[in-house]
Amino acid sequence: MCPHPSAVNWYASFGETVRRHKPELGQLISLETGKILQEGLGEVQEVIDICEFAVGLSRQLYGLTIASERPDHKLLETWHPVGVVGIISAFNFPMAVFAWNAALALVCGNTLAWKPSEKTPLSAVALHGLLLRAAKELGLDTEGLSELLIGERSVGEALVNHPQVKLVSATGSTAMGKKVAMACAAQFKRSLLELGGNNAAIVCPSANLELVVRGAAFAAAGTAGQRCTSLRRLIVHRSVYAALVERLVSVFARLPVGNPLTEGTLVGPLIDGRAFDSMQTALASAKGLGAKVHFGQREEGAGAGGSAGHYVRPAIVELAEQAGPMLHETFAPILYVVPYDDFDEAIAMNNAVVHGLSSAVFTQDLREAERFTSARGSDCGIANVNIGTSGAEIGGAFGGEKETGGGRESGSDSWKAYMRRATNTVNYGASLPLAQGIRFDI
Ligand code: NAD
Repeated sequence: MCPHPSAVNWYASFGETVRRHKPELGQLISLETGKILQEGLGEVQEVIDICEFAVGLSRQLYGLTIASERPDHKLLETWHPVGVVGIISAFNFPMAVFAWNAALALVCGNTLAWKPSEKTPLSAVALHGLLLRAAKELGLDTEGLSELLIGERSVGEALVNHPQVKLVSATGSTAMGKKVAMACAAQFKRSLLELGGNNAAIVCPSANLELVVRGAAFAAAGTAGQRCTSLRRLIVHRSVYAALVERLVSVFARLPVGNPLTEGTLVGPLIDGRAFDSMQTALASAKGLGAKVHFGQREEGAGAGGSAGHYVRPAIVELAEQAGPMLHETFAPILYVVPYDDFDEAIAMNNAVVHGLSSAVFTQDLREAERFTSARGSDCGIANVNIGTSGAEIGGAFGGEKETGGGRESGSDSWKAYMRRATNTVNYGASLPLAQGIRFDI
């Protein structure tokens, strides 16, 4: 059940190696994805944090001992590695997603095969190189410990279908997750799915609007709206609607959009032209529904200074009711805003989408906060109070329900997904009593 001591040293040393190279790695993420440098550095910090978490976790992989109904018997659970863990990752967290999976998979005694996004191969080459370097510095034989598979989706499909891969941990769109889930099911193979999100926050009459504006701006416009946990829907009580929208519009008008490596920039470019087109399609569709659209246009001149890319001013879209593109994830900075009158109605709106990743309520009313986080509240894997939908800490289990895939990664007891469980009954007596009092005398 325990990971090999040299493996523990390995990811401890990997974390240290990454810490030494944090500035360059943060820059590389920023260059390749377009996220601002601060967020690139934050992502590298997540890699370091999860390595440290895994070192502690290596001493805490526990199994239960259960009272046996039979005399002189012991009943217990033991946990074992599954074997090769296949990791498929998305472009928007080109290092952290791998590290989340790798640290836990390794701590559980597994080996790795990683297929990163075809949009971010350089971040993958750099991070994986450091993982292997850390192993070599410890004198470990790296043969077969971790493989990096650069390529298009066909490489991901080959990974999913490889008989030696025993668990596929896939992060990306719901469309990809459906294909991976079906391919795994056909092989009775385990899958751990971290897919799309269409995350909402409810703003109640008693909400501290200062917190809402700060929380919504970071969650909706940060990372140019390209986080799985980005805030996409704001459900606002009619009594504070006008005041809040006015403040948000004034903040979005001033957001510094530009070169992600330039100090002071808060919004970098979208990943590619397809992302730009899907944003414009969603905005046009909202306009067709009679929405009032603030911003969302190409930010001319933002790419000055040699930084080419698809720069947009994050959009705020006011809709009379939740409909059309608001019901789908568009991986771009669009914040839809709708009014509500009744808290039950707001919760129903929060839950009325196919995804179930992250959600939040802004309120000073204890009953609303408790209701939102109760079984009758948000149906998401993450339900926050007075904090935005994005920026989860590694200590908690991360993941979502419904078409977000149901997987959990990172903290808490997420490690269990990377192991197989055996129930052991040990007879230390001299007779063989049967369970349920059955007699079978021969
Ligand atoms: P994507 O689905 O286009 O690609 C993700 C990865 O899957 C890539 O490596 C791709 O090559 C691979 N892939 C695609 N089809 C495949 C198939 N049939 N078999 C095997 N592999 C296949 O996603 P993206 O555009 O890179 O990322 C954005 C999406 O990821 C958004 O929907 C976002 O919400 C989601 N995401 C979710 C999380 C989470 O933790 N829930 C985290 C980050 C991103």
